[in-house]
Parts: sequence; structure tokens; C-alpha cells
Amino acid sequence: MRVDVAIVGGGIVGATLALLLAQRARIDAARIAVIEPMPAVSPLHGSPFELRVSAISPGNRALLTGLGVWHALDASRIADYERMLVWHESVPPDSPDVLRFDAAEAGEPDLGSIVENNALQAQLLHRCAEQGIGILHETLRVLQVDADAATLDLGATQVVAELVVGADGAASAVRSALGVQADSRDYGQRAIVATVRGERSHGGTAWQRFLSTGPLALLPLPGDECSIVWSALNERADALLAMEPRDFEAELTAASAGVLGALRLTSRRAAFPLRRLAAQHYARQRAVLVGDAAHVIHPLAGQGVNQGLEDVVALAAALALRPARESPGALAALRRYERERRAGNALVAATVDSLDLLFTGSGALRAWLAREGMAMVGRSAPARRFLVRQAAAGRSWPHR
Ligand SMILES: Cc1cc2nc3c(=O)[nH]c(=O)nc-3n(C[C@H](O)[C@H](O)[C@H](O)COP(=O)(O)OP(=O)(O)OC[C@H]3O[C@@H](n4cnc5c(N)ncnc54)[C@H](O)[C@@H]3O)c2cc1C
Repeated sequence: MRVDVAIVGGGIVGATLALLLAQRARIDAARIAVIEPMPAVSPLHGSPFELRVSAISPGNRALLTGLGVWHALDASRIADYERMLVWHESVPPDSPDVLRFDAAEAGEPDLGSIVENNALQAQLLHRCAEQGIGILHETLRVLQVDADAATLDLGATQVVAELVVGADGAASAVRSALGVQADSRDYGQRAIVATVRGERSHGGTAWQRFLSTGPLALLPLPGDECSIVWSALNERADALLAMEPRDFEAELTAASAGVLGALRLTSRRAAFPLRRLAAQHYARQRAVLVGDAAHVIHPLAGQGVNQGLEDVVALAAALALRPARESPGALAALRRYERERRAGNALVAATVDSLDLLFTGSGALRAWLAREGMAMVGRSAPARRFLVRQAAAGRSWPHR
């Protein structure tokens, strides 16, 4: 099979790229292949919420609307959130030192939407198929890249492409096959995810409390359930996972400072080890990395998917600017994309790491710094407005 672009990994990032290339980069949909071994299934209407959800910024929601994907999602399973409260465990949740972001204050209707990863991925892949983009339910086994082409061995199928894109997540086989080194660090934490219900309505608010053992986020879902992302140092996470549900709920309610009253689990619990990763290169002749294959950060900022979507917008824009008849695998456009994204992604990773270092761990100085830092931003209306506008635009970092 010969194509212009073979995208390895049809997660949210890879599938969005396929649609963007066909829409914006002068690449025929029939000349794009997405290789994704796992079938993505949309959750059934009325079924319990999936454990993996993402906060999608208004800017990226507009991107997905423009690709014909957002409005095809089941709206009854999506929650928009209008405000976000962030605070440190050393202050009570009603303290003036709580950092409060309000969409209304920045003139935005909301700060973003919480959507189930499966639902979004399934709809993206469905849209790809509708557009005539080839979906191969296979796994990349061997990749060989030379000056003329990239050759992908999928076992049953062999694909020859002008450009191969690694959108295959943190353990990227494409990155390994290219011999691209990645700087990586274990945060020594696990993120516990689950669905919960409080005694009080979340009122369209997302909450994040920084504890010395790691941050706890409560993300609003429709009908007053919340999705939790509770990052905790490994030992603490193991203990929390081993607890009986009732004991876990008591710990969770205490960790949330009771902002929604007593919290009850409405799902099982799952956990993900947290690592940071940064590929040393994004672009090679005929090969490029996007999304988690290129960079992974701590989920405390809720930016992984959003950063990946920014990557693919930049890659599609760089390919759209290539001279007529130039191959999509030519290095110049891929380097333009790398220049546009790599430094910015590194800055986001460094900022998120500093927040993790500042907030996770004990000590009076750390608590004071964390509290004062937040209070300083909190007291400045222009700073808050600026951050909200950046976040709403889907920007994980202020653009030049
Ligand atoms: C607990 C938690 C909460 C998070 N919350 C948020 C949030 O609120 N907002 C946000 O923006 N981000 C969030 N993130 C980050 C986000 O989940 C990731 O950044 C995002 O899923 C990365 O998308 P991706 O498509 O690059 O990679 P993945 O989602 O990992 O997709 C990679 C795809 O490649 C496929 N694949 C793998 N190997 C191969 C192979 N050899 N051949 C073919 N296909 C292959 C896989 O099947 C998979 O479908 C969170 C992360 C965690 C851990």
C-alpha cells in the first residue's frame, strides 16, 4: 500500500492530524492512512461515564467543531465548566488566597469542556473513515526510513509512505525505530482516576487542591458527577488503591476539604504511573513525532491533549506552506514544525515541573511559597484574565 502520509496511532492527536492534513495541507484523504490497533467505541447513551476524560479548551473545541467532530458527540455526556478554583492545602477553600478563574471575568462563556477520551477518539476515527482516510487496525512492527520513503511493516500489510508520523503515545515505537532519544523522569507518583458524586452540586466548577502528597482535581461531569484525577506519591497511591471503597471515600472527602460535601465513588478506581518525557528531536527526513510520542507532562495542568492538538495544527500549517510538488516528507517543513513547537512544549514541561516541585512535598517554606505565589496571581485581576484568555484559546503557553 502506497500513501503520502502514514500516521501511526489513531488516538485523539493522530486522528485529528489525519483530518487536518486532508482539510488544510493539500493532501488527498485517500492518500492518508491511520494505523490504530485498538478499536475505539463510543460510550452508549445513558451508560456510566468512562474513567478517562480530558479537559478540552474552547480553542480546541472550535478546532474539533471545524473538523465536523464536536457536534457529532453526545452532548448529554459533555460538561462545560465556567470557573476553576485552585488552592493549597495550607489555606481553607473559602480563603481569599484561593486562585479563582472565572470565564465571565474574561468575557468567555466557559473555560472548557470535559469529554470522555473514548467518545472523542471514536468520533474522530468515524469522521476519518467518512472522509475516505484509510484506517488500518494493525500494529506497527518494523519501521525503516530512508531518503526516498518510510516503509512500515504491520504484519499483514506493508505500507510505503512519503512521511511517517509517530502519534503512538508515550512508549512510541516510531520514536524508538528512529533512534530518537528522550529525556525522561519518573515523578514517583500515580494518578488515580474514578467517577464520584458529592452531596452538593459542582455548579460547573473545576477544583484543584494542591496537597503535599500530590494534587487532587475534581472535574465536573453532567448530572453532578465529577471525574477525579488524584495524583499521589507512589506509597500513598498504593495505600489509597488498596483501601475499601468507604475508607477511600473518607480520605477523598478529606483531601477535597469537603468542597462538595461527602464524596461517594460511582465507579471503580484505576491508576496511571506518571512520567515526564521529552523527545530530543521531533523531525527527521520523512518522519515526525506529535503528541505524547514527543512529550509527556504531569496531568496537573490538564494540558497533554491540548498540547498534542497544538502540535498537529502547527504540523498541518507547516505542510500547507510547503512549495507545490514538494513531498510532505521533505525535511524543511518538518523542521519548521519542530521549531514552532519544541521550545514551547519544553517551557510548558518546565513550568508544570516547577509547580509539582513547589507543591508536592512538605515543609513550611514550601507551603508559604505556594500560598503566597497563588495569592499574588489571585489578587491581580489582569493576571487572572490573561491566564483565562490563554487557556480558553487552547494555548498551553502564551504565544509570541
Ligand atoms: C490521569 C491523566 C489525566 C489527564 N487529563 C488530561 C486533561 O484533562 N487534559 C489534557 O489535555 N490532557 C490530559 N492528560 C494527558 C492526555 O491523556 C495525553 O496527553 C493524550 O492522551 C495523548 O494523546 P496521544 O494521541 O498523543 O497519545 P495516546 O492517547 O497514548 O494515543 C496513542 C495511540 O497510539 C496507538 N499505538 C500505540 N502503539 C502503537 C503501534 N506500535 N502501532 C500502532 N498504533 C499504536 C495506541 O493504541 C493509541 O490509540 C491526562 C493524562 C493522564 C495520565
